[in-house]
Amino acid sequence: MDSALLRQLIERVCQAVIARADHLTDLDQAIGDGDHGVNMKRGCEAVLAEIDGTAAKSLPEAMRAIGTQLVMTVGGASGPLYGTLFLTLGKELPAEPDLPAVAKAVKAALAAVQARGKSERGQKTLLDVLGPVSDTLSTGSFGSLTELSIVANQAAAATVPLQATRGRASFLGERSIGHMDPGACSLALIVETLVATLEGLNK
Ligand code: ADP
Ligand code: MG
Repeated sequence: MDSALLRQLIERVCQAVIARADHLTDLDQAIGDGDHGVNMKRGCEAVLAEIDGTAAKSLPEAMRAIGTQLVMTVGGASGPLYGTLFLTLGKELPAEPDLPAVAKAVKAALAAVQARGKSERGQKTLLDVLGPVSDTLSTGSFGSLTELSIVANQAAAATVPLQATRGRASFLGERSIGHMDPGACSLALIVETLVATLEGLNK
């Protein structure tokens, strides 16, 4: 992967998260403490501040750098979890991955985030997006990258009727029902933006 593409992917994702920070905060206001957007924005700004150095690295080294930056800056529950996600991608991805290699790395990241969060799917967290995205990549059951983006967004929407049993939202019990999980929303946005950037290259 060349550094221009890597830079574009990182920039687009960070810009998209920063642009949606208020929405992520609104979601976290409903079922958490209202800081998810602020947390993610701070992390993305830190990643953007280091982008020259990061984009010059190989893909796995860049993922490790981003994972470290997120761990150090995002905070909250999501910082260590997103950090673990990117650090694991950095450990697993080769420099020039094909689809099976991406699927394998995402599956490993799913397992690592589950272990870090002591959580599983169905608990109304970002795992409810990471799980379906990983499954879709592993089975190769998508005709185009756009379908992967649809899977991620549908999975985020599917957290609305769930009752949270992990994270801060679980303190609300039944009152967590009826709202989208903020972490599921941010992860779907990241997947959507990665896909849109990669699809844009094919046009
Ligand atoms: P905090 O909950 O500490 O305020 P954030 O608001 O930044 O942190 O992030 C909240 C998001 O983190 C939740 O919406 C959920 O998706 C995710 N999350 C929280 N706890 C866990 C966990 N144990 N496992 C997986 N994801 C979690
Ligand atoms: Mg929060």
